Amino acid sequence: MTGSHRNEDAVSVEFRCRDVGVACKNVARAETPDELVKAVAAHAKEKHGVELNGTLIDYAVTKVRPAGG
Ligand SMILES: [Zn+2]
Repeated sequence: MTGSHRNEDAVSVEFRCRDVGVACKNVARAETPDELVKAVAAHAKEKHGVELNGTLIDYAVTKVRPAGG
């Protein structure tokens, strides 16, 4: 490891399906909000059959929270 940036845990943001009213225990985690949106979009499509459009992504982003909080 080089540099002094905090890296105790690569995961820094998370998104829970239930935070948007979906009865699902999935918690998506990623290092950055951009990566998280990709993970959530993939999960939504695979598990819920929902294709995230811009509006849904904008809404999901408002539900992103720091991981472990
Ligand atoms: Zn889900």
